[in-house]
Amino acid sequence: MGFNIAIDGPAGAGKSTIAKRLAKDLDFIYVDTGALYRALAYAFWNRGIAPDDEEAIAKACEDVSVALAYENGVQKVLLNGEDISAYLRQEAVGNMASSISVYPAVRQKLLSIQQEIAEQENVVMDGRDIGTCVLPNAQCKIYLTASARTRAERRYKELIERGEEGDIDVIENDIKERDHRDMTRAIAPLKQADDAVLVDSTSMTIEEVVSAIEAEVQKRK
Ligand code: C5P
Repeated sequence: MGFNIAIDGPAGAGKSTIAKRLAKDLDFIYVDTGALYRALAYAFWNRGIAPDDEEAIAKACEDVSVALAYENGVQKVLLNGEDISAYLRQEAVGNMASSISVYPAVRQKLLSIQQEIAEQENVVMDGRDIGTCVLPNAQCKIYLTASARTRAERRYKELIERGEEGDIDVIENDIKERDHRDMTRAIAPLKQADDAVLVDSTSMTIEEVVSAIEAEVQKRK
């Protein structure tokens, strides 16, 4: 097993920004597990499958292939061999990902991809159930959160920087809905693992969060 850092938390808490920075500083691989759920959501969306059609989704899981690849340390998600990473960050894909992530067929399909990479490499892996389900033996577990308004403001800023449009109140509502779905689903709900360290980034800078987590990693190395 590599040295595994698990970072879980709600949408927009800054997990990917922080995880990327940590991976760079520590020379670890960053694994964005949300991108795997988004890739399946994108595949189902393109086939015109509704997010509440569990039967069609379970069936589609059997003939879709999802894989991770790394190019200069940057993660790419391959759907049936094609790099679809560029299409995954849209809000609609994120919302669909949250809806389909409740199904056992979806979670089961993605579990081994995540576990295999952590077995072979030193990873910083972010998601919702990494510390609780995917990597229960991770050497360092962090639960990263922030207030819903702060998270909405960060998402909004990201959209504007990408030249897209957004309404901050709509984003905040989507975030709250998504949190609720992620925290109350029957399988692998979002929650802080018993042995995870809680980091509330509402009034912390990126630098402060990175330093706080690096201090936790050092204690466990
Ligand atoms: O983190 P991101 O916004 O990309 O995740 C999209 C959705 O995928 C989440 O709202 C969540 O429902 C699902 N997800 C999950 N388990 C993970 C990562 C993401 O259920 N480990």
